Amino acid sequence: MDKVRVALGLITAPVVTSALLVLVGLSVGVVGPTVSAQLRPPVVALVGGRVYASPAATPIDNAAVVIEGGRIVSIGPRAQVRVPPTARIIDCPNKVLVAGFQNSHVHFSEPHWAGAATQPAAVLTAHLQRMLTRYGFTTVVDTGSFLPDTTALRRRIESGEIEGPRILTAGSPLYPPNGIPYYLRDGSIPPDLLRQLPQPATAADAVREVARNLDGGADIIKLLTGSWVERGRVLPMPQTVAIAAVQEAHRRGALVFAHTSSPAGLEVTLAAGVDVVAHALDDTRGLTPGLLRRMKEARIAMIPTLTLFASAQNAAEIFKEVGEYAAQGGDILFGTDVGYHQMYDTRLEFASLGKAG
Ligand SMILES: [Zn+2]
Repeated sequence: MDKVRVALGLITAPVVTSALLVLVGLSVGVVGPTVSAQLRPPVVALVGGRVYASPAATPIDNAAVVIEGGRIVSIGPRAQVRVPPTARIIDCPNKVLVAGFQNSHVHFSEPHWAGAATQPAAVLTAHLQRMLTRYGFTTVVDTGSFLPDTTALRRRIESGEIEGPRILTAGSPLYPPNGIPYYLRDGSIPPDLLRQLPQPATAADAVREVARNLDGGADIIKLLTGSWVERGRVLPMPQTVAIAAVQEAHRRGALVFAHTSSPAGLEVTLAAGVDVVAHALDDTRGLTPGLLRRMKEARIAMIPTLTLFASAQNAAEIFKEVGEYAAQGGDILFGTDVGYHQMYDTRLEFASLGKAG
């Protein structure tokens, strides 16, 4: 059985003009005759929608998109695109088609991913739809989860058994010594699992933990360069540990994401040469425009995750920080931290980014 899977975000047009964007992930299954399908891949045509071919391009109304063997082969106004007679037509009136979105900060750490290797495919597909694909995400970066479950999920998606996004994962984050955040010590994680979270104390330990993640199938490394060990207190990671972890990750071609939390955490992040800050700093005490400028000069991308901070006491300060970083020309990546929290809906993140400027 040949199967074409097309991942496109569909937005229902009547709500586009309002703040209420409804995004629906579309998966198209096509069953073709086995012999001819091998010679000619199955064809799907999405007809009649409005297409945003790129963020900068003028949208195409009443468009046609032709997909052969899982690849887009033509796109344009319906009158100008030849739709093969064998194509399976999917009518898309009052729909908007865009390229797949990327969520650069998610977690596959909720209990329903446990045992992902053996769970029924339909159950996992339904979870992925609820959490990610219905909001248009076709690529996600998991910044911390149980690696065997996440790699099993990824393997089943890549084989076509499960419908879901492309997954990049950090595996298990690295914490400072005695640096497990208070919000993970609230009983939500079993104590034996909690003890296994890596807290490298030396450069050699850090190198070993990075290798363990990458050997286990991780794509990136995540460091807690600043960890909220108590309410109101951030513990920075020892600089030598962070530097060793980043050097080893870079040597093996992996990007490093960091949860920095505070200006002290950001100093470690800068010293170590981290690539991406996984949250805006939420401890804004002592955060200066000069520090943000150094972050920009170090070409560190920021994932604000404003969904997480929208109701914080100092939300206005955090929004201001994100706006300043964008105004300085710092790279901003979209990410919501979904999976750590259950606010799957992306509207708050979009609205907050708009509010931050
Ligand atoms: Zn997170």
